Amino acid sequence: MQFGNFGLDKRLLATIEHLGFDQATEIQQQAIPAAMAGHDLIASSKTGSGKTLAFLLPAMQRLIRNRALAKRDPRVLILTPTRELAKQVFGQLRLLTGNTQFKAVLLLGGENFNDQEKILAKDPHFVVATPGRLADHLNHKNFYLHGLELLILDEADRMLDLGFEKELKQIHTAADHRKRQTLMFSATLDHDQINDFALDLLNSPKRITIEHGSTEHQDINKRFYLADNLEHKQAMLNHFLTNESYQQLIIFTATRADTERLSNELSEQGLSTAALSGDLNQSQRNQIMESFSKGQQKILITTDLASRGLDLVNVSHVINFDLPKHSEEFVHRIGRTGRAGNKGDAISMVGPKDWQSFKNIEAFLKQRISFDQIDGLVAKFKGLKPKKKAVAKKPTKAKATKPAAVKKAPIKRNKKAVFSAADAGDLPILRKNIGKLQDSDDDEA
Ligand code: ADP
Ligand code: MG
Repeated sequence: MQFGNFGLDKRLLATIEHLGFDQATEIQQQAIPAAMAGHDLIASSKTGSGKTLAFLLPAMQRLIRNRALAKRDPRVLILTPTRELAKQVFGQLRLLTGNTQFKAVLLLGGENFNDQEKILAKDPHFVVATPGRLADHLNHKNFYLHGLELLILDEADRMLDLGFEKELKQIHTAADHRKRQTLMFSATLDHDQINDFALDLLNSPKRITIEHGSTEHQDINKRFYLADNLEHKQAMLNHFLTNESYQQLIIFTATRADTERLSNELSEQGLSTAALSGDLNQSQRNQIMESFSKGQQKILITTDLASRGLDLVNVSHVINFDLPKHSEEFVHRIGRTGRAGNKGDAISMVGPKDWQSFKNIEAFLKQRISFDQIDGLVAKFKGLKPKKKAVAKKPTKAKATKPAAVKKAPIKRNKKAVFSAADAGDLPILRKNIGKLQDSDDDEA
C-alpha cells in the first residue's frame, strides 16, 4: 500500500517522497489508519520495520486536522527509554514539522534544566523526552498536560524495565481526559507486565501485532559460538574482526566496565572504536553517537543502553560479547542490524556465565539453537547440565533483595511461571536491583 492512500496532508506526503519511501511497511499500513481513526494502540512489529513513522505520521495529521484543546499546552508527547533514541525520533519528527507551523522540542535528562524551561515557555506543540526529565518539568509546573491530545510511548516495555512506571503514571494522570489518545510501540509487547500497565493507561486499545518479538527475523543471520572464558572470547572477537567483512559493527557487553576494558583492548591493537556507556556525560554521549553515525569509527562498543531503537544504517554486524540478562534485549540488540530490508549478521558468544541467559533466549525464541565453531578456537565448554527444579520458597522468606537468591532465579516476564512467591513482588524494582548488582547500564533518562 502506498502512503498516498492514507488521506495524509500533502505536506506530509511531500516529506515521505523526499525520504524516498514508496510503499508503507506492514505496521505502517495497519497502525496509521487505526491511529488516525482515534484508537488507542498496542502496536508491535519486528525491529527496523518503520514503527517511528507509524506513529509520527498520524500524530502530525491529527495536529494539522484538529484544533488544539488548549492554547499553550503541548499537543503530542513522545517518550523513549534512552536519550539517544529520543534524539533520533526528534530528528525524524523535525523532517515532518519542517514545512509546517508546528514546533517540536527535545527534553533529555543530563542537559541543562533552565535552558529547557525557556524552551518550554515557548509553548511547543510536540515534546519528545525521556520520562525522568519530563516528570521533573511537570513537578516544577513548567508546563501542563491538560491539552495533550496524543501520548506516544516508544519502546514502552523498556521504560517499565528501567523502573519508570511511576513517572509514566504521573504523566498519564496529568493528561487524563476523554480526548487523549495513547499509542504504545515496541518489538516486544506481548507479556503480562505490559498488559497490566496498558489496562491502566489505555482506553479500549486495539492490538496490532505484525510479528511477535520472538518470531524469526529473516534478514538477520544469527550465529552462536561456545566460549570457555574471557580470553577465549577475546580471541574469537579478534577472529571475527579480522575475518568478517563488516561495514560497521556494534559490540554489546554486559557492563559499563566491560565496555571500557574492551575499548582499551581494541585501541591497543590499533583499532579505532567508539565506546558508549551511561558513565559518560551527555555531551560526550552525543559526540560519540554523532561520530559513529557519520562512520568515523567502524566499531561501537556499548551496553544495553544502545539496544533499543537506534537506526544506524551501516551496521552490518552485531556481536554479543556477553548475552543480555533479559531475552527481549537479545531481540533488540540484534535488531540494530538487518533494518528496513537490509541483511545483517548477529554473532553471540556463550560462555559458562552466559549459559542461563542462553537457555532463556532459546525459550523466548522458541528455537533449538545450535552452535557454530571456528577452527583452532573450539571451546571445551559444552554447556551446563540443567539444574534440578528449585522448590518454591515460602513467601515468608523475603529473599528478593539478597543477591544470591536473585541471581539464581531466571528472570522471566511471566510472573506466574518461574518466580517463587518471595520474588513475585514489584518486577521493575526487582530488575533494577539485579541491574545494580551486575553493574548493568540502565539509562537514568
Ligand atoms: P523500528 O522503530 O520499527 O525499529 P524505524 O522506525 O527506526 O524502525 O525504521 C527503520 C528504518 O526504516 C529507518 O531508517 C526508516 O527511515 C526506514 N523506513 C521507515 N519506513 C519506511 C518505508 N515505508 N519504506 C522504506 N524505509 C522505511
Ligand atoms: Mg523504533
